[in-house]
Amino acid sequence: MSEHRGGCHCGRVTIVLYDTPVEAAECNCSICRRTAGLSHYCAPDRVTVAGEGAAYRQGDGALDLWHCPICGCTTHWTSTDPAYPRMGVNLRMFDPALCRGLPIRPVDGASY
Ligand SMILES: [Zn+2]
Repeated sequence: MSEHRGGCHCGRVTIVLYDTPVEAAECNCSICRRTAGLSHYCAPDRVTVAGEGAAYRQGDGALDLWHCPICGCTTHWTSTDPAYPRMGVNLRMFDPALCRGLPIRPVDGASY
């Protein structure tokens, strides 16, 4: 099993990923284009997030976008709908080697 450990800049929020990403999603929606993260989309049970983050909910309220309240890093997003158990982890919170060479998949979040 491959396990990858990352976290925000100050260390308050830590993330453990239980899969190795095969691509990085780059979304063009109004918030993602500002935070400029690269997402690994996965089921919530493939990730452990620890530490107290802060959520930002906007638009249709389908997602909470989490960031560290101390250093400001955008760490991940979660679905607000229990029937849609998905999340996205910001690969920029990990060692750069984890996303080096990964294909970037454009996601057209702006059109939804
Ligand atoms: Zn932090």
